[in-house]
Amino acid sequence: MPGNCSLTLAVNSSKVENTLTRPSGPRKKSSVPVMTANTHIHRVRLGVGATTYSSRMTLPAYTVTRKPVKYTRIRVHAPDGRVTVTAPRHVSEREIAQFVTQKAAWIAKHQARIAAAPPPPEADPVPEHLRPVLYARIGPLMDYWTQRMGLEPPTYAVRRMKTRWGTCNTQRRHVTFALELARRDDELLEYVVVHELAHLFEHNHGPRFKAIMTRYLPNWLELRARLNGRY
Ligand SMILES: [Zn+2]
Repeated sequence: MPGNCSLTLAVNSSKVENTLTRPSGPRKKSSVPVMTANTHIHRVRLGVGATTYSSRMTLPAYTVTRKPVKYTRIRVHAPDGRVTVTAPRHVSEREIAQFVTQKAAWIAKHQARIAAAPPPPEADPVPEHLRPVLYARIGPLMDYWTQRMGLEPPTYAVRRMKTRWGTCNTQRRHVTFALELARRDDELLEYVVVHELAHLFEHNHGPRFKAIMTRYLPNWLELRARLNGRY
């Protein structure tokens, strides 16, 4: 999984001022939905000597820490995508806000990358005795969903997997579930079942795949976020 992403403001404070003296400049239309998405970022926890800004329409939430550093630096942290800014004392909050706003698309890109990362490995492995318990939970879900989606039931198995919740071999029509799912509730298990079955219609995760997910599990995005431990 990717580590933290960091972006250094590649200019010193005088260049920041140069940037600020310009009118806000042309803004790409495509940046609007990106920024809207950022309004959903939850508030950032306050650290010692840090200031938290809640998001407005164009400003991702971020925390500022003042340090004797040369450059203003933005970091996007895994696994929650929180944004921190380290800034020299003489750079104003307004300049920092402007910089963060300018880099909103970059921030959103890295938050999306972090969000798509596989779950971190659990500290302690799932005990073996939970394997039959998980099979017993998957069985009825597979029966229900193959029928509802009009699919010939594929074969399936539970395996210890480090980086995935499930896989689907569409040629063999075989689905593999991670034993780690034994620790997740039925709703999340159901999400993985529907996701893997959806691959029997569509190999990739493109728009058609997403449409299938939305049709059968309208809240699948929320379930995916919960499965990957982001709230
Ligand atoms: Zn998939």
